[in-house]
Order: sequence, then C-alpha cells, then structure tokens
Amino acid sequence: MNSILLDSNQYLLNKYDIYAFDYIEYPHKSFWSEKFGDKDYREGLKSLFLSEKNPPVVLYVHIPFCPQMCWFCVCHFNITHNYDRIKDYLTYLHSEIDMIRTFLNEHDITPNFKECHLGGGSPTYLEEKEFLELKAKLQTICSFDNLDEFTIEIDPRRVDQRRMHFYHEQGIDRISFGVQDFDLEVQKSINRIQPPHLIKNLLTPDIRKHFKSVNFDLLVGLPKQTRESVRRTIDQVIDIGPDRIALSFMHYSPKYAPHQKMMKKNDKLPDFRERKVLHEEAVQALVRSDYVRTGFEHFAKPTDDVAKAVKTKTVQYNSLGATSGRCSYLIGLGESSYGRIGERHYSQHLYEEGAYKERVSKGEFPIYRGHKLTQDDVIRRDVIHTLRSIFTLNCRDIEARYRIVFNDYFKDEEPILDEFLRDGMIEITDGVLIITELGKNFSNLVCRIFDRYCRTDQFPDDFFDAPTVAL
Ligand code: SF4
Repeated sequence: MNSILLDSNQYLLNKYDIYAFDYIEYPHKSFWSEKFGDKDYREGLKSLFLSEKNPPVVLYVHIPFCPQMCWFCVCHFNITHNYDRIKDYLTYLHSEIDMIRTFLNEHDITPNFKECHLGGGSPTYLEEKEFLELKAKLQTICSFDNLDEFTIEIDPRRVDQRRMHFYHEQGIDRISFGVQDFDLEVQKSINRIQPPHLIKNLLTPDIRKHFKSVNFDLLVGLPKQTRESVRRTIDQVIDIGPDRIALSFMHYSPKYAPHQKMMKKNDKLPDFRERKVLHEEAVQALVRSDYVRTGFEHFAKPTDDVAKAVKTKTVQYNSLGATSGRCSYLIGLGESSYGRIGERHYSQHLYEEGAYKERVSKGEFPIYRGHKLTQDDVIRRDVIHTLRSIFTLNCRDIEARYRIVFNDYFKDEEPILDEFLRDGMIEITDGVLIITELGKNFSNLVCRIFDRYCRTDQFPDDFFDAPTVAL
C-alpha cells in the first residue's frame, strides 16, 4: 500500500509503532480503582449537582443486547434471541432510574439534562412498548422538553421506515448508524452484512427531514480492507451525506473480546502501517469533500453543531465522540455505562448481568470502578483533551487556568516534546503547540506525552495486543 503523507516517512512508522490510548477519558479506565463504589458515586453525584448551578448533563442509557454478534465489536453486548431476558434487564434498569430519582429528591435537585443518548448493544432491539415504558421512566428524572438532543444508535438491519417515524414521534432528533464499511467482502469477514441500500431506504428525504443530525460510525483496520475498498466506502458515505462521521481504528484486543479471533480465522488483519495508510486514505477523501475534521477521527459537515464548535474551540471529546461542547458531564445508566460526574469523578458500571442486577436489587448503584481526579489529573486531562479535540494547545491558557508555569510544570516532558518537534509532528510558536498535518496521524501519541500514568517504560510487554491495536 502506498500513502500520500506516510510513504516518505517510513522511519516515523517504525519509530512510533507504539500503543496510545484513545483518551476518551484521562486517566484511562484501566487505571481506575475497583475500590470506588456506591458511596463514592453518590459523593460524585452530589459534587456534580450541588457545586455548580444547573450544569448541563448528558444522560446515557445502555441497552446491552444484540441478536447477532459482529466479530470486530468491543462494545459491551450480550447476544440473545430471548426477548424476556431483555424485559427482565429493563426492570432492573427501571429500578436504577428509581434510585437516581430518590437521590435527586433527597437532595432537592432538579437535574439539567440537555442531551439523552440511547446506546448499546442495540437500543433498536427494544420493541415500541418497551421503548415507551423506558421513556416514561426516564421522564421521572429527565424533562424531555428541556433536551437539546435526543439520540438513538440504529442498527439498520433491525428497523424499518415505520420505526424511524416512530422514533421521530417520540422526540428523537439525532440518529447514529453503525456502518463500519460498505464493502461486501469486508462485511462478510466481520459477520455484519448490511448493503448501503438498507441505510438509504431508511434515510429517504421524508424521514431525513425529521432528524437534525445523522452520524455514521466507520472502522479502519478490518480484514479485507484495501485502499480501494476504503475509498469506495467513503465515496458511498459522501453520497449519502451524514452530518457527522466517526472514523475510528478497530481496537483489536482478543484478550478482552475473544470473539475477535473469528476475524482472523480466514483473513489477515491489516498491520500497523497498513492501518495508517487506510486511515489516511479515508481522511484525505473526506477532507477533499466538504467535511471538516472535528478531532482525530471525527468529521462533520460545516453546518453541523460540532463543526461550528470546532470554530469556536468549544468542541469536546467524550465517550459519545466529538460533541458540540454543550455538556461536559455525563451520567450513565445500565451495564458498563460510564459517568463523568463533575470535574473530579469518573465511574463505570458493572459489565456482568448477574452482578449488575444483584447490586441494583440491594439498592446500591452498580459501580464496577471509578477514579477521583487529583489536580494534576485535571490539568493533564485539559491538555490532552484540548489537543485531542482541536490539535492546538495554547499553553498560556493552561497557565492562566491553573496558575502554573507550563514549561516548569511539564519539565519532564520537554525531551520528548523536542523529539516530536524534530520529527515534524508538532510545532511550538509563542506558547502555542500545534499538531502538524503529519502529526495528526499520530495525535494520540502526542497526547500520550502528557499522560502521567502511561509512560513508555511502564508497559508490560503483553499488556496490549500491540502492534495491531496501535493508533
Ligand atoms: S457492533 Fe453493535 S450490533 Fe454488532 S455486536 Fe456490537 S453492539 Fe451489537
């Protein structure tokens, strides 16, 4: 495979074939503590709702069920064809919502939820009756009239036009499709067949006008992908014209998702260099069209809220991708969901169905792990997320915000910053650090320079499945 930017920089590919987190959160969740529990979570909720006046918050709800396994997937999902199992899960999810409502009432809090996101798994697996019951339960803690955005992740194989109209009637105004790749051979190799016409049929002009934003999730690093196939997929995507695109690398981590090995049974996965070339091919095709890059792996039409937020530098990156920056905080409900609860607390719910239900039955929040951020964490997260979102860091802003002298505070990072400077990955002028076009291919590694938990010398050799997972 040849590449526009990377071909003349083969030495960079060899030198920087190093794992970096995607920095959805900092510190990464593998450094969070399992000692973080119900009490800490409640403390976090209090700090979120009582220390700031009406902070805007995202409410995320996880529906962890799918009827068929996609072999690339690293989301938390359970495969089932037993709808009673889903209904049973929903009774516990409703109980968890009751627990939140009780907590809010006890502390006289009226939360300012501005966005609601139904994700999974496959939230479209819910029948209309269960959807309506869930929405009614959510209404006990969330005023839907107050929402700026109500999103659902759509599995195009499981919905029809009638269901799309139903979602619109229920107030959903933003939809996100798991597309991954339109090439049939690639789709076969990941056990997810969904020809483009499936999505086109769901996005007729009549339906499309009901949704203010349509997102496509695409993946790079799948078996059978070639530069040509990726180009074709991007051309088809541009033809349909979603408002936002998330173009992520597939995380290959069979240690945590053993079903991923199914992909390798017949096909070879692209290696580190091939992944970079494929990603760059897709990036170049998107920026040549009218899409604006809104972060390392995100793109949006210039009219979309996120593209506008890039201009005003208010764009924010979190577990829902690049967002318009309306909300910094997020409360998750359901198995495995994340929370960013105020400035100082992260949490994640339990993955395992039995453990989740047991904890909820006891009247405890089903927390698996979490983290209380130190002041140093807060400073470094700001640096990392700013670079991750807009590729530019005004060091003077950081100095003013945290009353530090940037060069003193990050003295240990200086040698590696110099290395990245020499390699043309970054530029620093008048206290402004900019990730160059070349460096954007490695922007997560630039972020990693500031990661206190994850210095290169701290990785055990087999901790990640490097190099195939490297970004
Ligand atoms: S990609 Fe979506 S539909 Fe496929 S297994 Fe994962 S969560 Fe389920």
